[in-house]
Amino acid sequence: MTEQNLIEQAENKQPHLMKHFIHLVTTNRLSHAYLFSGLPGCGKRAVAQVVAMRLFCENPNADGMPCGHCPECGRILAGDNPDVVTVEPDGQRIKVDQVRYIKDEFSKSPVEGSTKVFIIEGAETLTTNAANGLLKFIEEPVANRVIFLLTTNKSMMLATILSRTQIVEFPPLSSKAFAETLREHQISENQIPLLTGLTNSLDVAQQLMTDDWLANCQHELSRWFGQLAKHDDMAFVTVQTGLMPLAHDRDHQAVILDAIVLLWQYTLQIKYHADAAQSAFPELQAAMTAMVQLLTRSQLLAILTAVLETKKALAGNMNIQSILETLTLRILGDMKQDA
Ligand SMILES: [Zn+2]
Repeated sequence: MTEQNLIEQAENKQPHLMKHFIHLVTTNRLSHAYLFSGLPGCGKRAVAQVVAMRLFCENPNADGMPCGHCPECGRILAGDNPDVVTVEPDGQRIKVDQVRYIKDEFSKSPVEGSTKVFIIEGAETLTTNAANGLLKFIEEPVANRVIFLLTTNKSMMLATILSRTQIVEFPPLSSKAFAETLREHQISENQIPLLTGLTNSLDVAQQLMTDDWLANCQHELSRWFGQLAKHDDMAFVTVQTGLMPLAHDRDHQAVILDAIVLLWQYTLQIKYHADAAQSAFPELQAAMTAMVQLLTRSQLLAILTAVLETKKALAGNMNIQSILETLTLRILGDMKQDA
């Protein structure tokens, strides 16, 4: 990653928090211990690194941001500044020798600059002992030490840590910033609009893509919708043969229903001549156009309402197959009335 990219990434993902932290640095009000809490990929590490860059940068910009070009900025990105200590879990957790390393570094004075920055990712994976060991550093502020604990699961953090750090909740990414994050992770353009419609967690996105589940879901829903648009009863069969094999647990069932909601929302947008260029189902443009010609606005709205109600039915423990079959028959029936 280039230097400029990291700064842009932090600003795109968390514009308000980035501004807030730069303000704290420029006004000398940075606290000594923070807990950054938020979904994976929401920019916690980028913000912490840019703050570190700002603390060392030789040439900050007029807006207070680090320049991204000077040797100090470059060294932090290369992981080459001994006063910026970054630790991430080695495997499942932060290991004992990593904790020892953090403690050793904490007790040493800054090597060159005046400040030492600690960025500890996956802080929830610290053992109780390790976390307690770090407590005394967090508890008694040492001059010129700033520690950033990063977590995706605040509920797993010790209460003693929570009470001694400033907790900063990172909001989920905007769908635009999330789409950028997915691109950074080389996720196919075909899947980005659907993923951004379904989630803003990188973890969830990656789980949905496991074993091509998302691509298969997109494909089967397209088949189902394409059949509906032709008023073909086979759509009912597709529920059993295409959708049910994908609905293997509650989480995936909920995602299928969310995707169906998106499908009908896009259709409604076409009916209202809204820009549907961002459709999560690009191969369905023709079928959606056919569908809007078959249905009146009020019929479409009634279908969308029925689709939204499937979520309640699932939450009420109704069987997914009957939810999808009922919905399919309902849509086919609505279309018949119109014909
Ligand atoms: Zn710089």
